[in-house]
Amino acid sequence: MSGTPQLTAAHAIAILDRHWGITAERVVDLGSYEDQNLRVDAGAKRYVLKVAGPSHARPPLEAEHEALAAAATLELATPVPVTALDGAEIVDVDGHRVRLLSWVDGVPLTDVAHLDEPTLRGLGAVAAASSAALADVRSAREPVASKWDPRLAADVVDDVLADDSGPTEDEREVLAAATAPLRELLHRSGAELPALQTIHGDVSDYNVLVTAAGPGRVRISGLIDFGDSTRTWRIADLANACVAVVCRELDEPLQALLAVVAGYNESAPLNALELDALWPLILGRAAACAALSTRQLRLTSDRDYTVAQYAGDWRALHTLIGFPSGLPDAVIRARCGHEPLPGDPLADLLGSGTELLPVLAAPPGRRATGHAAAGKAAAGVGVIDLSIATDELHDGDWADPHEVAAVVHARHATIGRWGEVRLTAAGDPGDAAPDTLHLGADLFALAGTQVRAPLAGTVIGVAERELTLELAPGRCLRLAGIEAIARAGGAVTAGAVVGYVAERTDGGPTHVHVQLTTVPGQPGLGDPRLRDAWLALCPDPSPLVGADVAAPPPPDAAAGVARRASVLAGAQELYYARPMEIVRGSRQYLYDAHGRPYLDMINNVAVVGHSHPRVAAAAARQFRLLNTNSRFLYDSMAEYAARLVELLPAELDRVFLVNSGSEACDLALQLARVYTGRQDVVALRGAYHGWISAVFELCTGPDNPVWRQTKPPFVHVAEQPDPYRGAFADDAAAYVGSVADACSDAATAAGGVAAFISEPLLGNQGAVQPPDGFLAGAYAAVRAAGGVCIADEIQVGYGRTGESFWAFEHERVTPDIVAVAKATGNGHPLGAVICRAEIADALGRRAAFFSSTAGGPVSCEVGLAVLDAIADEGLQDKAARVGGALQRSLTALADDHQLIGAVHGRGLYQGVDLVLDRDTREPAVEQARWICERMRELGVIVQPTGDHGNVLKVKPPLCITESDADVFVIALDRALRDLATVSL
Ligand code: PMP
Repeated sequence: MSGTPQLTAAHAIAILDRHWGITAERVVDLGSYEDQNLRVDAGAKRYVLKVAGPSHARPPLEAEHEALAAAATLELATPVPVTALDGAEIVDVDGHRVRLLSWVDGVPLTDVAHLDEPTLRGLGAVAAASSAALADVRSAREPVASKWDPRLAADVVDDVLADDSGPTEDEREVLAAATAPLRELLHRSGAELPALQTIHGDVSDYNVLVTAAGPGRVRISGLIDFGDSTRTWRIADLANACVAVVCRELDEPLQALLAVVAGYNESAPLNALELDALWPLILGRAAACAALSTRQLRLTSDRDYTVAQYAGDWRALHTLIGFPSGLPDAVIRARCGHEPLPGDPLADLLGSGTELLPVLAAPPGRRATGHAAAGKAAAGVGVIDLSIATDELHDGDWADPHEVAAVVHARHATIGRWGEVRLTAAGDPGDAAPDTLHLGADLFALAGTQVRAPLAGTVIGVAERELTLELAPGRCLRLAGIEAIARAGGAVTAGAVVGYVAERTDGGPTHVHVQLTTVPGQPGLGDPRLRDAWLALCPDPSPLVGADVAAPPPPDAAAGVARRASVLAGAQELYYARPMEIVRGSRQYLYDAHGRPYLDMINNVAVVGHSHPRVAAAAARQFRLLNTNSRFLYDSMAEYAARLVELLPAELDRVFLVNSGSEACDLALQLARVYTGRQDVVALRGAYHGWISAVFELCTGPDNPVWRQTKPPFVHVAEQPDPYRGAFADDAAAYVGSVADACSDAATAAGGVAAFISEPLLGNQGAVQPPDGFLAGAYAAVRAAGGVCIADEIQVGYGRTGESFWAFEHERVTPDIVAVAKATGNGHPLGAVICRAEIADALGRRAAFFSSTAGGPVSCEVGLAVLDAIADEGLQDKAARVGGALQRSLTALADDHQLIGAVHGRGLYQGVDLVLDRDTREPAVEQARWICERMRELGVIVQPTGDHGNVLKVKPPLCITESDADVFVIALDRALRDLATVSL
């Protein structure tokens, strides 16, 4: 450790020439922990010159070369030694030991900002594969103990700790704690340990190389630096890889670690001894790295490399020791298909003949609550459902403890369940999934109620508002939400009063949280994705409570996907590569089955917000009263129609109510055809107006890939008036000309045009704004040709654009027919067609219009409630204000990201057009998909749209706030940055 060799470039070039006969143009220092590594550029070839100090012994270098030879069998690129002119692989020159290795293409995983699940698994698989390849390497010499062997971590830490001027007191404490499990494992008498073999020794993000594998994807392609190859347990490299990922995947470090373990276990299943050893080894590795970089920092404090290393190593160690005790071990076992905890933790505790006493004291004159609750709980009485799907809590009131208390009291609830994914713990959308899994049972009771020990035990911990009793070795009872009166260290008898149910300052329901744990110090809530491990560590306390307090297990998500696939027509696609199971919606947030909230940026249907209380109440009230059809008289139908008409230009005064957007467009077409007596329709290229046969014939976008072969002769396609990508750039007159041409075609081919249909703002293109004057010109051309003009406001109307209620108003035109849906019912099937009386009458003269459920009483009440909410909550203004701020932020974001070609739209309908090249505007399709997947991980739901699927459509419920808009922009910025690093 006398410092890293510091060959000058000129010196290195001279050595290369003299000993390898290689003329190098350039050498570049690659940075290294101890040795000097130089990249050598020689013509079209590249090498790595590795320079060890004079004190570096030869045998480890020879062992490294043996490992390199064995690694050549891997399906990964690995360095190959280049022999010197004298035939040697290791050359002693000018006081150094020098070697030349072939260059391995690719970039290290350290350059990739975020490692996705396949890459993390791949890293685990590399650890497994390299261990298998090197297993039989038997160096003739006794291997030199490597300080990088995690098995020897305790010795390495001790060595650093022996130096008084080394780590601080705090650091010492952490290092000692982190190495304790490994020391215990190694010194457990008679313990069998995993077998020894040769391994790489440093399978980490520094040494695993990747190459681009398509947009947003990398492929692990190489493994370098066999200098730490050593003889130890094969899982040492798995431990190394795990430590490498936790310090960088800070949002979800444990998930990242588990993905690496899963990748390894898939290739090389871990055996029982390895499962015992892995977590101590991971901690040991992290501790040794932190200890060594603490020392290295002191020796070479001026080097950025060492400073960054020190920070990263300590971050990893702090992250690892911050995981709840016992959890990583259990969850690693579970991920490898084993029982999370060996044995039944409660069998010995609650053996036959054990007398359990109630946790809660009897209220005056009654029997104790714990056992008294048993009969009730068996019948489900007294148990309150606080799960994600609960019907007890609404409209975000779960975030207010007073509201939760009110519900608990109103229901006379005595028990909150164990194993329940708690809505009350969901919190706000964030970068990581919240801990929502309830690990104990809540016994609701008045503050001051006595809390008793159900079994004899020892008080091993008293903290604020909680107490932990050890009932038997490794069997603890955590009682939280109480004022403890028992003292730490004291023994308590069964039935002894240990505290009182505490008051709550936050107004929440007073209760004692009863949690059985196998390890003390567990939190009350855990990550529901780790359900099996958590519930093994904190088993069902029903026997202690004397009632069934277990929530039913959640449905199997994979089975749900399979069930859907087995009965639903495959044409009905799902969002995302891994479909999302959404259980609850509230305003602008959606909650998945694990209680993770997401910011919803795509649901323009839920215009006033998901599960809006006013809409839900209106629907429920009317459903209870009556839901029949529109052939009976009910006021709400006329009232709703009148409200729609009020919002439109005076001449549009006749309303039809329908069930969907497709029906609205279809009816609009029928009206136009009957009114004009013609059949031909002009639609814009890339249009979508619904799936019903007549309107699907107009679909010339990605929803109908075969439109060219199937388009009927009476459908005429005009150029899409897209200033960004369209055939005529922003030339409104040219696009109008295209519409006029289509009308002429209709006249030539048949009797002329019946209708022109378009979205006034091109929603399905991602809110592309046609050039000024287009719509007015197109309407004039169509009318001149004897046709009528239909505005499809299904996506873009209803206040969404902010400046006006209808998108066509921006163009200062009045359509003849307006079709609207989606927002009208806030998710309830309701659409409308509004037109001039003479057009409506033309249909009436020919046939009656009736649709059994269209415009029924429930629909009309819902429609009115939506309009009321939009008006009362000022949502149109909000769309203008929040949308404006959002657009400014998105436009500013484009300064930092070349991928953003344009930001389209108005108000809260916007499109972020992603391009590979700003000049060619080539759509970045795969990238758009990647960004959507990444943003999901960051808690934001957004989807691509447009003719190419490269435009992120931003059309959230109108109730989003400025801070939600910021969350979106920050997540998008992060996703774009992450993407840039995998585009290599
Ligand atoms: N028109 C437009 C512009 C649309 O975007 C859609 C649906 N995406 C429809 C009509 C059809 O509406 P629905 O899905 O309610 O039938």
